[in-house]
Amino acid sequence: GSTIGILGGGQLGRMMALSGSNLGYRFVTLDPTPDAPCGQIAEQITAGYDDVEAARQLAAKADVITYEFENVDAGVAAMLMTESYVPQGSELLYTTQHRLREKRAIEAAGVKVAPYAEITCVEDLRQAVERFGLPCVLKTATGGYDGKGQWVIRSLDEIQEAYETLAQAKTELVLEQFIRFTKELSVIAARSPRGEVKAFPVAENIHVDNILHLSIVPARVPFDTQDHAEALAIRIAESMNVVGLIAVEMFLTEDGELFVNEVAPRPHNSGHYTMEACRTSQFEQHVRAVCNLPLGDTSLITPVVMVNVLGEHVEPLVARMAQIDTEASSLNVAPKVHLYGKQEAKEKRKMGHVNILADHLDDALTWVEKTNIWRKK
Ligand code: ATP
Ligand code: MG
Ligand code: MG
Repeated sequence: GSTIGILGGGQLGRMMALSGSNLGYRFVTLDPTPDAPCGQIAEQITAGYDDVEAARQLAAKADVITYEFENVDAGVAAMLMTESYVPQGSELLYTTQHRLREKRAIEAAGVKVAPYAEITCVEDLRQAVERFGLPCVLKTATGGYDGKGQWVIRSLDEIQEAYETLAQAKTELVLEQFIRFTKELSVIAARSPRGEVKAFPVAENIHVDNILHLSIVPARVPFDTQDHAEALAIRIAESMNVVGLIAVEMFLTEDGELFVNEVAPRPHNSGHYTMEACRTSQFEQHVRAVCNLPLGDTSLITPVVMVNVLGEHVEPLVARMAQIDTEASSLNVAPKVHLYGKQEAKEKRKMGHVNILADHLDDALTWVEKTNIWRKK
């Protein structure tokens, strides 16, 4: 079999390698943390993500290179493109590393994003806030995740401080109109070099403190909204010439409109439900796509709720495992626990997730409530 090299050895790489191993591939990763989640099950080169020499070693060991995060260093990407085989290309990274470029690419696909403006000085910000009204969201163009690098501006008094704080990141800023969404949805689509495209069922996502808490599938929205969301993701995958996965985060408004928030060219936390609930998981699909194999069937086998296990949830979860099982059998749900093997259970850190398979979504949601580990906000 051939060897797949992954830039990044976190949980996404780990689950990719677990799936890909079943297809006969070997894996080698590059990650700065010794004993990273993927390194526990695959070969790891321990070095910084921007270490071109280490990336060259990765390339020498691998037949195909992919990544589990989009902030791949430009120098590393350029070297890999010339010296190795990166089926996803470098343009997809270039586009999705930067919110402004990403928004333009989404618009070029004929898909709506929240009204936005590039902000280069505090005066730009004042004018844009006036145009969009309050509240609105100021974001750094690069590097943000879990709501880091953004500021919801709720009053004119905050403009100066918001600008100064985010400007410290030394990247462009973008202001977005605040979308009063009724639901957040996401769709993960896959495209292979031969041009085959498939989307997974749309997930309904609930965040707590800007971190994904629940994904609920099927999303509790009308069928035509589900179809529309899936069609948008496919349109973006085709327009951006995606290879591998593209995760598309969207806002649904009261009048049924969909706005794309952001995209990610990799497996996505909101797609973890596919591991047991779909005929093919997002991780297997990614491996199939980058290896130009036929894409797998994305059909949903069963309703499912995915709940994230953060640092503060690990101990209570492990302590209550027996009780949780009793609860599950009385509710007739099957909670599938996934832990990523991370050493330090820091607060808010993603340590694992549980996919709760059920005939009825309400039973899975009741199980989450009754386990009483995930405090309600
Ligand atoms: P991620 O961890 O998903 O990469 P991120 O730091 O890139 O997060 P976003 O996804 O852009 O941040 O925003 C985080 C959350 O903030 C969104 O899921 C949504 O709940 C809210 N949000 C972001 N932009 C807007 C907006 N324009 N209008 C309303 N809510 C927004
Ligand atoms: Mg993001
Ligand atoms: Mg997001």
